[in-house]
Amino acid sequence: MTADASASSAQSAQPAHSHPHARPQRTRVVIVGAGPAGLTLANILRAASVDCVVLENESREFIEQRPRAGFLEEWAVRALERRGLADRLLENAVAHSECEFRFAGERHRFPYTDVSGHRHYVYPQPLLVTDLVREYADVRGGDIRFGVRDVEPAGIDADQTDRMDQTYQMYQAGRPSVTYTDPETGERVRLDCEFIAGCDGARGVTRDLMPAEHVTVARHDFGVGWLALLAEAPPSSACVVFGIHPRGFAGHMARSPQVTRYYLECPPDDDPEDWSHERVWAELHARLAADGAQPLNEGNLIEKRVLAMHNYVVEPMAYGRLYLAGDSAHLLAPIGAKGMNLAIHDSLLLGDALVAYYGTGDDSGLRGYSAACLRRGWQYQEFSQWLSEVYHGASSGDPFKAGTSMARLRRILASPPAALVFADLFLGKDTDY
Ligand code: FAD
Repeated sequence: MTADASASSAQSAQPAHSHPHARPQRTRVVIVGAGPAGLTLANILRAASVDCVVLENESREFIEQRPRAGFLEEWAVRALERRGLADRLLENAVAHSECEFRFAGERHRFPYTDVSGHRHYVYPQPLLVTDLVREYADVRGGDIRFGVRDVEPAGIDADQTDRMDQTYQMYQAGRPSVTYTDPETGERVRLDCEFIAGCDGARGVTRDLMPAEHVTVARHDFGVGWLALLAEAPPSSACVVFGIHPRGFAGHMARSPQVTRYYLECPPDDDPEDWSHERVWAELHARLAADGAQPLNEGNLIEKRVLAMHNYVVEPMAYGRLYLAGDSAHLLAPIGAKGMNLAIHDSLLLGDALVAYYGTGDDSGLRGYSAACLRRGWQYQEFSQWLSEVYHGASSGDPFKAGTSMARLRRILASPPAALVFADLFLGKDTDY
């Protein structure tokens, strides 16, 4: 693979043959999706003057308000800081140094910073997305197109691209492109490019481009659901609380001084409408009850949805000129609060690999991208599965699973080596083995 110096920033090129109504434009990298993965990548490319265009099918307002993650691992915060992407985060995030397990009516603090020297940062995903869009589009002048429809990536096949010759016909046949409908004109627009970054999350379109015979999709279904709730209520504890209870897992996570995220384990096909305000709070009180615990602050429920807890990993994460990053390549149910962290990790690697390729022609980062991402990805998957057994053992109805769940909890609370291993995995420290 060699750097193609002929591409310039997104600009009109020759008429398209494969899409008669398209207005073809060119850029080097089309990034599909403006979540944490796509926006981190876009900022890295923009900072290095590598032309890219971000395509997002939602509006800017929508993505800046979509509630989801809240916990960032310290290595991710430091990596964003080194790239000038964490100013507002560091001003406004709250650093956490411990969490609390509640089971059998007792509270057990786990001081992970004392154990590992590292912290968690609470910074809601919509704020991070807002910062990254602002930096990319408003400060660095990057090209991002919101509200695009029917995004259609094509031409990723490596062999075709590498056999590209100088005639226009062949050039078009072998070149990656992404076509979409412009929301204002209703016209199909085609962007010719050299790479496509599939950052379009779990329900995107880029992953489907990978030839079935080339990829393995490994899946794991946890067999439980979590009712994900956002309450307009101040946090009831200074730290994250995990309630392990025979009625089901319950979680408490501060999001801001006014808003708290709660989780309640439920059947995966439960209807959120069956969870009235009264039922939610009664269940949270019951499952998070413990001697000496502060009573829960109740408030309006502003989000209420059931997440069927399942994970997947697409392996490899690249084919030809398509590179997947974030949830498009691997899903992690929010058991370990890992998905956004892993999305950022992928994008840091992909961004650096593309910058190296365009800077010096060094393609080793691109060739090693998938394996490097998957090393950390599989560690996070394994931790997520391990933690799921801890959280869901007591409510499984299986006395063996309940017993082993308690054994694991007692071990991490009493044994310093077990505590260190847990803290390192929980905080995502040094997990690239
Ligand atoms: P996304 O954030 O899903 O972004 C993908 C983007 O692509 C979206 O903006 C989408 O609109 C766009 N898109 C999709 N299809 C198309 C298309 N065809 N064309 C154009 N654009 C498209 N992770 C943590 O690390 N810590 C946590 O505490 C945590 N808590 C969570 C709590 C909940 C309730 C949930 C649901 C998730 C949580 N996660 C957490 C996971 C985290 O939110 C995701 O892993 C993260 O959003 C992944 O980022 P991404 O950029 O890969 O994908």
